[in-house]
Order: sequence, then C-alpha cells, then structure tokens
Amino acid sequence: MSPQSRCIGKKIVEVAVFAPLRSTFDYLSESDNEENLNIKIGSRVRVSLRNSERIGIILSFSGFDDSCDRKLKNILEVIDNKPILSKKMLALASWAASYYHHPIGEVISLMLPGTLRKGHRIPCSKNYVWNISQAGRDALKTGAVNGARQLELLHCLASKPNNGIEMFQSLTFAWQAPLTKLVEKCWAIKTEGEATDVDSITSKSQVVLNSEQTSAISIIERNLGKFCPTALYGVTGSGKTEVYFEVMETVISAGKQILFLLPEIALTKHLIARFRQRFGSQVALLHSARSNSERISAWRDCVSGKASILLGTRSAVWFDLPNLGAIFVDEEHDGAYKQYDGFKYSARDIAIVRAKRSNIPVILGSATPSFETLANIKSGKYGVIKLLERPRALVDTRTEVLDVRGLSLKSGLSNMLIERMQYHLHLGQQVVLFLNRRGYAPLLICRECGDIRSCYRCDAYLVYYKSRRILICHHCGYKLSLAKISACCEDQNMAPIGLGTESIEEEVKQLFPEKNIARVDRDSIKSADSFETILRNIEEKKIDIVIGTQMISKGLDFENVTLVGVIDADSRLYSIDFRAEERLAQLLVQVTGRAGRGGKAGEMILQTHRPDNPVLRRIIDDGYEGYSGLALAERELAQLPPYVSMVIIRAESRQVSRPKSFLLGVKKLLEKNSGRKLKVTDPIPALMAQRSGRHRYLLVIRVMKKTDIQGCIGPTILDIENLARKIKLRWAIDVDPHDTL
Ligand code: ADP
Ligand code: ZN
Repeated sequence: MSPQSRCIGKKIVEVAVFAPLRSTFDYLSESDNEENLNIKIGSRVRVSLRNSERIGIILSFSGFDDSCDRKLKNILEVIDNKPILSKKMLALASWAASYYHHPIGEVISLMLPGTLRKGHRIPCSKNYVWNISQAGRDALKTGAVNGARQLELLHCLASKPNNGIEMFQSLTFAWQAPLTKLVEKCWAIKTEGEATDVDSITSKSQVVLNSEQTSAISIIERNLGKFCPTALYGVTGSGKTEVYFEVMETVISAGKQILFLLPEIALTKHLIARFRQRFGSQVALLHSARSNSERISAWRDCVSGKASILLGTRSAVWFDLPNLGAIFVDEEHDGAYKQYDGFKYSARDIAIVRAKRSNIPVILGSATPSFETLANIKSGKYGVIKLLERPRALVDTRTEVLDVRGLSLKSGLSNMLIERMQYHLHLGQQVVLFLNRRGYAPLLICRECGDIRSCYRCDAYLVYYKSRRILICHHCGYKLSLAKISACCEDQNMAPIGLGTESIEEEVKQLFPEKNIARVDRDSIKSADSFETILRNIEEKKIDIVIGTQMISKGLDFENVTLVGVIDADSRLYSIDFRAEERLAQLLVQVTGRAGRGGKAGEMILQTHRPDNPVLRRIIDDGYEGYSGLALAERELAQLPPYVSMVIIRAESRQVSRPKSFLLGVKKLLEKNSGRKLKVTDPIPALMAQRSGRHRYLLVIRVMKKTDIQGCIGPTILDIENLARKIKLRWAIDVDPHDTL
C-alpha cells in the first residue's frame, strides 16, 4: 500500500513524536482489520516524518471519519501491543508540556529509559545469578586479585550464594566491567537462576524515636490517602530520615509504592546504604550514572510493582509507579532539582503536582526550606512539621564572623584561620575550606601593559590555571595557552588577581606540607567514581584538609570534620540575582551542619570584608528561620517570586540586532494576547551579554496568578516560535527560573 492513502474508514491516530516539535501529528492506522485492536493509547509507534523515521507515542484516536479527505501517512509499525505508558502518565506529561511550554514528545520521552525511546523492544527479563568459584576463593586467599573493584565484587560473591543483579545494582561503582572480568577469569560463574534474596530480609532501625519524631510520623500517616503537602523542617541530624523510613514502611505495608527523590546520588552513599539496609531489594535505584540496562530494569520493576520504592535523582520523577502511595523530596530546596538546559522543569514541583493528581501526600524535607515552600507554609497551603531536637546530642557549631579587613592574607587565608586549622589538625581532626571559585585565579593581569585576558567569544575573563599554564573560559571552554600570549605579556609579567580553589590548595600545601590535601571541584573531579574515591578517603581519614567549591557543601557527612572555613563569604552577597542571598543562607546553614558531628565541638569561620552586612548578620544571628522570615517579606514588597510567578524568555544570536528585535516582537505578541495580566519588561541584555560568540538578551515576565502563565503564554507560543524561525535565532523559555541573569 502506498504510504499516502485516503483515510476513509480507518482510524486516525494522534502521535507525539520524540522530538523537539510543538505539535502532534496525525497518522492513519495501517488497516482496519483485527490488527487495529492493538492500537492503544500509550503504545509506541514508528512513523515517517519529514522523510525520516521517528518513534512516538499514541495520544488519542480520532475515530473513523468517512467524510475526511485529508491525506495522511500510515503508521509504519506499532511497537508495543500493550500500552507502555499509562493514561495517568500521559496526562501528567501533557500538563507539564503546557505548564513549561515544552514540546510534549520530549516530555513523554523522559518517562522511558533511553533505548525504549529509540524504539527498542522491552527486553524480556531473564534472571541470572553469580557465584564465586573455587578458583575465585583461592585467588582471594592468595591475594591474587588486583583491582579494588574486582576484589570488592569477589568479597560480595564470597559472602553469599546466588547473587542476583539487584545485589550489584546497590553498589555505587561501575560494576559491569569488573564483573565480566571475574567471569572471564573463571573466578565467578554466571548461570540462569533465581537469586537468594538475603537483602529482602530487612532490618528495622535500632533507634528509639523521640517524641518529635513519633508525632511527626503520626501527623503524616493520618493524611495518607489524600493530597497533603507537608514540609518536614528540621536541622541536619534532627532525624528526618528516620521519620521518612517509618512512614515508608506503613505505606509499603498497605501495598503502595513510594517515590523518593534526592538531589544527588554520589553524595548520598550513606543514605542509599541505609535504604538498602532497611528495605533491601524492594528499592529500585535511578540516577545519571546508571547504565542503560540498569535503567530498564529499574523502570520495569517500578511499572510491574516489583519495586516498592523508587529512589532517584531529578529524572526519577518521570517514572511510572502505578500504585504510588507517597512522595518524598529530600533537601527540597536544592538547586539540583531544577533542570537548567533543554526542558527546564523542577522535579520538586512536578513531584507536588504528581502527588496532587494522585491524591497522595508529598513530604518536603529540608533544614533550609526554599522560599517557595516557606511561602506556602505561611499561606496555609502546606503543612509544616518542625524537628528541633538533635537526638544524637550533636554539639552545636560555633560560627565566627571574621573581619579580614586590613589583615594580611596568605592566598586568602587569615592567620586566625590558619591557627584554627593547626589546632583542629593537631587533635587529629579534619578541616574543610570552602571557596566557590575553581581555577587558580579568576583574572590574570599583565603588569607591563595592564592587559587582562578575556574570552574572545564571551563577556568574561579567562580563568588562570597555574599548574597547566593555561587560561580557560568557564562559559564556553575556550583555552589559551600561556605560551601563546603576546610578547609583552610574558610569564614573569603576568600576575594573578583573586582566588580560586587551586591557589588555596597551593598555599595550604606550603603551610601544611605533611598533611594530605584534596581538592574537590569540577576540575579535579571528572567522574562520579573519582568523587566516590575522594569521599571514601575523607571518611577513612586518609585526607586531612579538603578544599572545595559548593560540590562539598552537600552531604559531606563526616564525624571527624570539625572545622569549616569559608574563605570568602562576600562573593555571593553582591550578586544581582535575587535568589543569591537565599542560596548563601542555605549554603551557610548546610555547611555548618557539616561540622560538629560525633560529639566533637565544631567550628565555622566566615572570612568577610563586610562583617556588618545586614544579610550576613541576620543569617548568623537569627538563623535560617529568622533570616528567611524577613527576606520573604522583602520579596513580597518587591513583587518577586514566590509572590509572583516569573517566566524568562531568552534569545541569542551571532547577529547583534536579532535578539532584541525578536524579544520586542515577543513582547508585542504577549501584550496583544494577554492584556494587563502579564508584566513584561523590555528586552534586557543578559548579565553576560555575549557568550560563545552569541549576543544574548532576555525578557522577564511576571504574572500575579500562576494559572495565568499557561493562559496567557500558551496561546502565543506558536507565534513566538514562528517569529524565531523568521528572524533566525535561538530562543528558550524558562518557567519559574532559578537564575535570572
Ligand atoms: P536527618 O535526615 O534529619 O539528617 P537522620 O535521620 O539521618 O537525620 O538522623 C541523624 C542521625 O541520628 C542518624 O545517625 C540516626 O540514626 C540518628 N537518629 C535519628 N533519630 C534518632 C533517635 N530517635 N535516637 C537516636 N538516634 C537517632
Ligand atoms: Zn568563552
């Protein structure tokens, strides 16, 4: 049959293809014989679109229409004979697509593991088990195993028979390659079979819950079975996780499933271990470091109901759990829940919407709740449960604001900080130094001609990396070797200005030559594995001093770290982004939570040139709660989120005039369609007005009523897209942006 056939007497099928296209497409079902019965909403199909083959999902049928004389293409193949996505999930996707103004096909594709998006069939699940062989045991005895991972795996295999894939999936390192090696060496044997599930024998926690925890649990459990967003507001160590676990157990014993979101996996190894201990193989794990086959098996376990808990990062919010009973979002304030490129959704917000649509509770845990959550508590939309005690009798951290004006600093370190470091190190304790700037120095100036090297593609200075003798642009990755810099700007003439983690590391190495020092930032840590190793070394006290960026502010949960030095508390106070302060406050409170564990007195030293800065004072003197109360009132006065909804439209082009004229056009379109409901600024140059050779502008839209975002922008979005196509530029829309620069 020709692909173009008349659609008389056949089904018209609406398909969302997995591509960044805003419209859905109609196709014709192949024939009207029995096969048609297999065409179901939520099944994948292969279709031809603009001369290439695409995979998509069936969204609806338009039924038979004898009078129809549209020419439609046939569906090339129906891939699934039963729906791969439920109507509930498709409805969620459709909501998210319209709320974030993002192509629906791309939203739906997030709900499937990678290979399924490409149209592969769901692999049938064969169960394999792994056992240690006699040769393997001998190798363990004689110490013949080289490679830490092979050794760890072999120990696992030796500890029990018939290890299933779930056992390996709970490991946090890449286990596939070393396991294959073990099989190749005949130290391990792989056979088809059922795993002995030692893991499923779960152990109840040993702690006796305190009265705050028991009452928190009973309040949450009273509301199971209805939509009830609740903030669990408790400092680090106040026992939130124990509360989650108790509630989870109740939900699971009622036969329901749980979605548990956390911001980052590498940092939360302890938490995963606690999950495994408590809930064994009922936990499916999903995060970016998981392989394709692991994702598929996690997805399958969730959909089939084999997994009672899905524990995962941002993208886990899109996995179907047909029997969902409660959602938990740990560290709900964390910026990692927001996706910054492509589809700019917030997993925390999707979680809340999902809970609402499923009529189940959602628990938002944090020691420093986001302003959105605080505003919802204040208005009575969310409940709040506070945990004020710390059951483990943690010693409070003493915070000292250290005025460094006029002091001589050694690469940013004051003598006072150095002395405190000596003191803590002398006691055999560990020290963390925090500076949110990687590289050696943010600027390099030529003392001869005064030239400061900036990126030729971005409005940004190049960052100096001393050890590599190179300058790098942090925005586009452009690299300039020092050797290539012009004659006047010779090595000896170049002077670094400002601080970076590399220069602090160099200084600390000189000050404490006998100590082990590790640097944790995006330059030193290239993979989850290397991060893992460093964290393990800190835990095993093989490292005395850690120097790091915000990478180390989360989840650094080590008893022996007793001193945290914040090298430069000022850098965040003077950002023009309205959220910078909130983030600083969260960061400081979170960092403080890292010191003073295990009964040892903790200390935090904040170096600043502005000791009287009111924001800093408020954070230090009144704590997060006092600070946030006032800061929220300021946001309300200034008509900023969370009191208004914000949308940003960004545009960029190599042609300097295009972004501005495009955004002016967008503004006109929006005002035409929405009247006075939207407040639209004129096009503003982005803080970094040029990046990667492109000129960048943005339009800030404020809306008093959240529902007006969809109502006003939605009908205009295709016009905006057409305008962008006409003017030829890149553009993007960001609903509830986290970063407004
Ligand atoms: P959070 O999640 O708020 O940081 P956790 O639940 O992880 O707190 O608790 C911190 C530590 O205190 C953990 O080691 C936990 O086992 C312990 N803990 C929690 N509740 C109690 C309790 N009621 N009694 C004793 N120890 C507790
Ligand atoms: Zn650049």
